[in-house]
Amino acid sequence: MSTHAKPVAAFDLVIFGGTGDLAMRKLLPALFRRFADEQIPLQSRILGVAREDQADGEYRDRVREALEKAVGGDDALGAKIDDFLELVSYHPLDATSDDGWDDFARELTRIDDHVRVFYLSTSPRIFVDICERLRQHGLNGDGARVVIEKPIGHDLASATEINDAVGAVFAENQIFRIDHYLGKETVQNLLALRFANVLFEPLWNAAHIDHVQITVAETVGVEQRGPYYDTAGALRDMVQNHLLQLLCMVAMEPPASLDSDAVRDEKLKVLHTLKPINAENAAQTTVRGQYRAGAANGGSAPGYLEDLGQPSSDTETFVALKAQVCNWRWAGVPFYLRTGKRMPDRVSEIVIHFRDIPYSIFEAGSGAIRANKLVLRLQPDEGVKLWLMAKYPGPGGLRLQAVPLDMSFAEAFGVQQPDAYERLLLDVVRGNLTLFMRRDEVEAAWRWIDPILAAWENSNNSPRPYAAGTWGPSASVALIERDGRTWHDGDGQ
Ligand code: NAP
Repeated sequence: MSTHAKPVAAFDLVIFGGTGDLAMRKLLPALFRRFADEQIPLQSRILGVAREDQADGEYRDRVREALEKAVGGDDALGAKIDDFLELVSYHPLDATSDDGWDDFARELTRIDDHVRVFYLSTSPRIFVDICERLRQHGLNGDGARVVIEKPIGHDLASATEINDAVGAVFAENQIFRIDHYLGKETVQNLLALRFANVLFEPLWNAAHIDHVQITVAETVGVEQRGPYYDTAGALRDMVQNHLLQLLCMVAMEPPASLDSDAVRDEKLKVLHTLKPINAENAAQTTVRGQYRAGAANGGSAPGYLEDLGQPSSDTETFVALKAQVCNWRWAGVPFYLRTGKRMPDRVSEIVIHFRDIPYSIFEAGSGAIRANKLVLRLQPDEGVKLWLMAKYPGPGGLRLQAVPLDMSFAEAFGVQQPDAYERLLLDVVRGNLTLFMRRDEVEAAWRWIDPILAAWENSNNSPRPYAAGTWGPSASVALIERDGRTWHDGDGQ
């Protein structure tokens, strides 16, 4: 269904890692959908790059297969695949060798008035090689943009190294550090809710908000990503980027405009105000877990070590932690973050728990008055739910009940929600950096994460086991219940 989006100018997009999982499952389907929606001009070029030797035709066949899978049974959309494939070509190239780069550069510079985007959908290990060769061939000029995927490093030192290397070739305003959570409609709607309505902002502070919960739960295990995942773990893979970015969007002060630096300055301030978690307080404020075999996804699921094929590992597949934003607005309001694999549901949501009313005029028999909650659902079924107290209909006395004002974006606007990559890829072409992370944000996030990792490493404790298909170790429940609160349980109030 059309989202009536404005077309962008013709561009060239090079996907380094054009045969990889991310390119086939996310990037190319996202580009195709924007093309089918007439947002991408026919003169644009999409060039897949990887080491594998294959002809354009073979590559297009693989892309066709990936797109057919992505569009499912949508025949109208499927009919546009051939037109899209006209834009697609393939260049075998090893980013770590000089061979073939002259031809590649010649082909690319044949057209000189297109915005040029280099999407580094490869291991970060070769980011430096790719950038250096782009520079050698004069492909890093003003019209060029580079997109880098997470993980941007595995700690502050390695992130700084990557940022230095990419920054030596591209100016900061040419570098798009992608965090696809920021491209989700609900996250952008958080900006709309907070700053396009008068209702929420006066309440958006410690006087009216009791605490905030951010949950990103996956039902899957590590799947084929085991070898990478085991070197990362949930804190690096999810908290350092996605969950902290979501926390920043909730906690930041109103930016003066939607200008990229205005928004990113405010997010950075939040990261700087986070109370450090280190050896002194990590045991009280963090819980890490690792899944064991259990009943999950309607069957039985193996444990992490079996998935990994290793006898032992201290990598966490679950993290819960209590973060504190130390400023006037949020003093004393905990932000509870939780993420894990092999959870009972696939759900990403931000829950704003308001404070209790100061005084009740209702009789004891009217039912408990529950504090209001604003639930921002990122997946599945993006939407917003505001839990309010209302009178249960009919005679029989005034009985109170919590009911949700429920808005599914898909239903409210009658449009299919675009995938985050659709929005973000076209933002890159337009040069709009607002939803991308600036260097100082990434480094500030690592500066907060590194002491947690160090505290865990020095603690001699292993991650706590939890059964697949559960919400993590019981210590995660204890973490929040110690403060007299409970984790939000999906649909319930
Ligand atoms: P992948 O499936 O392993 O694909 C890697 C791609 O890089 C392949 O096309 C590979 O093709 C190419 N490649 C490897 N070495 C190369 C070289 N020396 N020169 C040129 N091309 C080379 O990885 P992926 O899952 O697509 O992930 C790509 C990046 O995105 C990673 O940094 C990952 O962490 C990140 N990411 C992925 C996802 C996801 O959902 N997959 C999500 C978030 C972030 P050849 O071997 O033929 O060269």
